[in-house]
Amino acid sequence: MEIALVGIGKIAVDQHIPAISDNPDWELAATVSRHGTVKGVPAFTDFDTMLEERPEIRVVSLCLPPVPRFDYAQKAILAGRHVMLEKPPGATLSECHTLEALARKHRVSLYATWHSRQADKVAAAKDWLSDRRLRKLAIRWREDVRQWHPGQDWVFEAGGLGVFDPGINALSILTEILPVPVHLTGAELHFPENRDTPIAAQCAFHHPDGAEVTMDLDWLEPGTPTWTIEAETDTGHMLLENGGGTLTIDGQTHDARPGLSGEYPRLYAQMAELVASGGIDMDLAPLCHVADAFLLGRRIAAPRFDW
Ligand code: NAP
Repeated sequence: MEIALVGIGKIAVDQHIPAISDNPDWELAATVSRHGTVKGVPAFTDFDTMLEERPEIRVVSLCLPPVPRFDYAQKAILAGRHVMLEKPPGATLSECHTLEALARKHRVSLYATWHSRQADKVAAAKDWLSDRRLRKLAIRWREDVRQWHPGQDWVFEAGGLGVFDPGINALSILTEILPVPVHLTGAELHFPENRDTPIAAQCAFHHPDGAEVTMDLDWLEPGTPTWTIEAETDTGHMLLENGGGTLTIDGQTHDARPGLSGEYPRLYAQMAELVASGGIDMDLAPLCHVADAFLLGRRIAAPRFDW
């Protein structure tokens, strides 16, 4: 299948382009970006022009930041294209619902991707937790924004999510591995005085069995990032590290997952299946928790942030 990649920035270059070129199901047939291009691939700077001039490209993968993404997704669906959305699937829940309704109406596939759910050990963690009673679960997601979003001002503008941009990856894993849903009960959000989104956050969640569930996000952690989810249950201890890439159960490291490896190769394999089956996968649970944090969160003043 021919596919067009829109928004040739950090994640397109780091992950999407290699994943597409390594997958025989896909051919990168066009790019749309005001500045970025891919060697040997026809490049457009205007999305409408690409949709008009390349009707044979049936699938569009949107790698833009969340705020501008809706207009692109809506245009693509109205033009009868199948759409793959980077995370988060939109800047608001309502626009995601609108896109899903539109995709159903126009009978195209729509995929809200959550790359962290495809990390190697997420499925094994889910399996292990499925028949255990949870007592405590702690998410610690701490990294250096200057390393992962160098100079990207949109992350600190309204709708850019701030530290919830990586935090939503942890929430995508949480909502995948827990056998029962949790909901947010409180949050403290640390806003730099010169920015519109938080740079750190602490969140607490209600768990139906009374387990203590917490999340600690920090965007000023220098050096090696900490992306861990630690769980204590009635029959053992689980440590999911490296964003879901490493799993230790009661001190024993879990074996590698067989089959296709890599988060983005798995996303593109999943998209190929959705297009083949005419499916829609629009799970908004991680974004609901982020929206709740912004609804319930107490605002705490933090020092100004400059790159
Ligand atoms: P980025 O490099 O800042 O942006 C991607 C591209 O989007 C830019 O190169 C830009 O291309 C285009 N763009 C930006 N603002 C736009 C606007 N207002 N209108 C139209 N196009 C615009 O961001 P990124 O890091 O790749 O992140 C993009 C998405 O991927 C985000 O949702 C992010 O959460 C997700 N993601 C990022 C990472 C990461 O490590 N950075 C990891 C996983 C997922 P042109 O200026 O050339 O048009």
